[in-house]
Amino acid sequence: MSFLKNILSDSGNVMLLLGNEAIARGAMESGVGFAATYPGTPSSEVGEVLMKVAPQYGMYFQYSINEKVAYEMAYGASLAGKRSFVFMKHVGLNVAADPFVTSLYTGINGGMVVMTADDPSMFSSQNEQDNRRYADLAHAPMIEPSDPQEAKDFLKIAYTLSEKYSLPVLFRTTTRVSHMRAPVVFGERIKPEQMDVRIKDERSRFSSVPSNARKLKPELTHKMALISDDREFNSLNKIENFPGSKFGIITSGASYNYVRDSLDSAGIGANILKLGLTNPIPTGITEEFMRENGKIIVIEELDPYLETKIRVFNDHLGKITEIHGKIDQMLPWSHEYSETVVMNALLKMDGQDREIKDEPIKSAPPDFCPGCPHRSAFFSIRRALKMAGKNDLVLSSDIGCYSLSYYEPYSMADIILDMGASISVGAGISLASGKKTVAFIGDSTFFHSGITAAINAKRSGANMLLFILDNSTTAMTGQEPTPEFPLTIGQEDFSGISIESILSGIQIPFSVVDAFDEGKIIRETISSLKEDGFKAIIVRGECALLPHKKERYFTVNAQECRGCMNCTVNFHCPAISEDGNIAKINPYECDGCGACAEVYVCPVGAIREVKL
Ligand code: SF4
Ligand code: SF4
Repeated sequence: MSFLKNILSDSGNVMLLLGNEAIARGAMESGVGFAATYPGTPSSEVGEVLMKVAPQYGMYFQYSINEKVAYEMAYGASLAGKRSFVFMKHVGLNVAADPFVTSLYTGINGGMVVMTADDPSMFSSQNEQDNRRYADLAHAPMIEPSDPQEAKDFLKIAYTLSEKYSLPVLFRTTTRVSHMRAPVVFGERIKPEQMDVRIKDERSRFSSVPSNARKLKPELTHKMALISDDREFNSLNKIENFPGSKFGIITSGASYNYVRDSLDSAGIGANILKLGLTNPIPTGITEEFMRENGKIIVIEELDPYLETKIRVFNDHLGKITEIHGKIDQMLPWSHEYSETVVMNALLKMDGQDREIKDEPIKSAPPDFCPGCPHRSAFFSIRRALKMAGKNDLVLSSDIGCYSLSYYEPYSMADIILDMGASISVGAGISLASGKKTVAFIGDSTFFHSGITAAINAKRSGANMLLFILDNSTTAMTGQEPTPEFPLTIGQEDFSGISIESILSGIQIPFSVVDAFDEGKIIRETISSLKEDGFKAIIVRGECALLPHKKERYFTVNAQECRGCMNCTVNFHCPAISEDGNIAKINPYECDGCGACAEVYVCPVGAIREVKL
């Protein structure tokens, strides 16, 4: 049976699913009628599934232009009476923070869940912010699953909670929960329904002008106090008792799995309070656990979020127990935990004087794929800057595959901050220093948050050369469509919005070059560097991972190769390697892009095409 048929199958079926896939199934078991996202690892697989199943299930699904827009679309759908779901990676919630915070004041109609997928250790992110802080900031109820089964089941509870209190619920995962694979038992799929709503009758609730917002805030904090004491949601939390336990552990999310594994490996037993509702803290069960354990360690990744709450609660109860965790340095504040990190803390709590050490893991630096258009683009632009004597220009880059240009041998990024920042940071540097800057942005990032930055840079008079690296997709997260393509399958009345039309509309002069035409990129870059003002070059070449028929590969003529290794050292395509004194190409890895056959890479023309 295909994946699609399986994930749409009946109650009682069991399927091996990623946490994110289980969340998509959970949306179907919750009657979600409207879902929106901007793709971002580690949340992307939720969208990959929902995009495919939405038409059959009867859900509206879209990849929005950015997270703020996705949030507002989902909020609008909830107001209109649909259960709605919006999901994003952790930094995406920064973009959506404005509507998120105020939507807790106004509340919602149809149940609304906001999934944030955090990335401890930053496997594919620029920071490892702990988005549980957003739950406190916005006074949002928050639920954290530990595995795929809980991810599906807890999502359903999140909708019940959301509708009972008319509040959006924050649903927080981390990379390990989103990307863990485990068997998931299916429940009933629920058909999306339309609630009977009257938005116009509730103007004072949904219009957060100061006079209304002042009344809404105390209502919100009152609701949160009710939730902390609401026994209807007890199934989110559980106590596991161990006879003879010397201490207690409070934990949640992925950390619970580390706790279970570490206890087994260390041969220690301890009582555990596993929280699924982590904002507000469920007071009843937490107090019960604290009274029964004279010594407690709070085990959680990133910030001491739960620990701070537990310490405050402990003070409020008159210091009924002793609390350990990050604040007393028993556990680190940074990066994803491992079994070893947690085990060492548990050994200390158990009074054992031994420490386990991890074997260091060697990792190779990331690189562009064979046939990636960004490789030949950066190789050519770097050469052009050198030829023009402009190596000292500041290079302001952005978030996407092309951020890999930071690494050797390209070294083509001096600054990478956040989505869309390459243009505004580059413009700020240009205006403050009086010098030209060079900026890089991808097509999807340009649509996400580069357009407003480009308008601002243009009207500020920034002296900047902007490269828009258009690979026709949101590549890094799984080839989701950009606004250059229709939003949904079968949308015949929309043919896409071109980057050219946007640049024309905001009066930025531009040229378009082929990403694999190295000579043209070099000439265009050198000539553009001579002009002052804001100019853009669209460097266009399809992502090598987009489906395409391979019609050729390239090979090195051993007689002609002089062994200069420009193709391996400076161009660095992973399909090319050294073979004694000459280069060789792996025909299976070669994507057939032809970029290495250009004279700028192989000066003697030793790299030849082989047709398939
Ligand atoms: S660039 Fe050409 S000559 Fe130099 S090592 Fe590669 S194939 Fe050989
Ligand atoms: S043609 Fe050359 S650059 Fe392109 S994928 Fe093959 S080996 Fe790499």
